[in-house]
Amino acid sequence: MKNYAYFIFIFVVVITIFSLLVKDVQKLRTQTLVLKNEIYGQDIYRSQLIDLYFIAASLYYNFEDSSVVNDGTKNVLYDEVIEFYSRHSEHNFIKNLHKYLDTYNSDIDSNFLMALVRYLLFDCTKESPFNKIVLEEFVADISEFYSDTNSHNFFENSYQHYNSLDNFINNIDFGLLDNLISEIDIYLERKDFSENQQYTIVFSLFRPYMASFYNSNDNYIAILSPYGIDRDFEYNENQIIKTLVHEILHCYINEHVHKYEDYILQNVEMFNWHKSEFNTRAPYANMDWHRIFDENLVRAVQAKIYYTFFKSEDAIDYILRDEYEIGGFKKAYDFYDSLDAYEISRNIYDGIKEYIPQIINKVFER
Ligand SMILES: [Zn+2]
Repeated sequence: MKNYAYFIFIFVVVITIFSLLVKDVQKLRTQTLVLKNEIYGQDIYRSQLIDLYFIAASLYYNFEDSSVVNDGTKNVLYDEVIEFYSRHSEHNFIKNLHKYLDTYNSDIDSNFLMALVRYLLFDCTKESPFNKIVLEEFVADISEFYSDTNSHNFFENSYQHYNSLDNFINNIDFGLLDNLISEIDIYLERKDFSENQQYTIVFSLFRPYMASFYNSNDNYIAILSPYGIDRDFEYNENQIIKTLVHEILHCYINEHVHKYEDYILQNVEMFNWHKSEFNTRAPYANMDWHRIFDENLVRAVQAKIYYTFFKSEDAIDYILRDEYEIGGFKKAYDFYDSLDAYEISRNIYDGIKEYIPQIINKVFER
């Protein structure tokens, strides 16, 4: 009889732990939606699970200088993160986190992040480099970490940061973004572009200055920080619009540039170019040549779009000057100039996608 009671007790404990875990998974998975911007058609999210992934990554790197934390220790949130999470650095989830990180660049793995976002928000694993089993395992492991560390308390204590983020998001002028997107369509002549295009935006407080992009079945996903690049941790609406336009351009431009990868490489070899002559700073200086080309072209096109829309020379410098002077984009203005011929010979080219070889010829000229 005694043994029987003992068995029941163990059974209840196991079931309780299991149901708590399941509840935490549910909690983490459902705490994603902030608001749906029905007027402008962008879906805007934030997610504790994604935030916890960034927190875990910063813990993995001991809050030392990495792309995850960056100057983040100046951010009041990182003080709170360090205080709350430092004692959990030996947790199994953290010990095994390298599977989901880009340790070469001391960063999160942006491909994994995109796969995770698509899986969490749209239950989609199609064409994903990470299959459903990997993603499910990650969600189970991070949920365990969430439980073991009482992260619930952390997020509850941070509610004022989240409230102010939500307020800020609610007041962003997405109408301006919409107008700029129309300008993109005109400038690039994206005739092959779907009218059903959706934009999904995921905000996180824990990854300074980052934005990623992913084109998934007519859905462009951007993950970004609300902070400005001046590193004062003030929310910056202009910066957000600027970043989103940048990411939206990537989604179209990268795909078409990629088709000319071989031609880019031929030019690099023929004229003996070094990456440091295009970009001097990481991560751009380490990228593949076609990605270096993307990053430059996206900035150049954005400067053209801002110039057209705001009708001011200052708009060009707003997009390019810091990139050139601080960001190490040594060819930013050359790319910008390479678009002049495209603008005056619109009738010859079927949109920017046909003009890419001309840009390659111009910017790789010695
Ligand atoms: Zn970029």
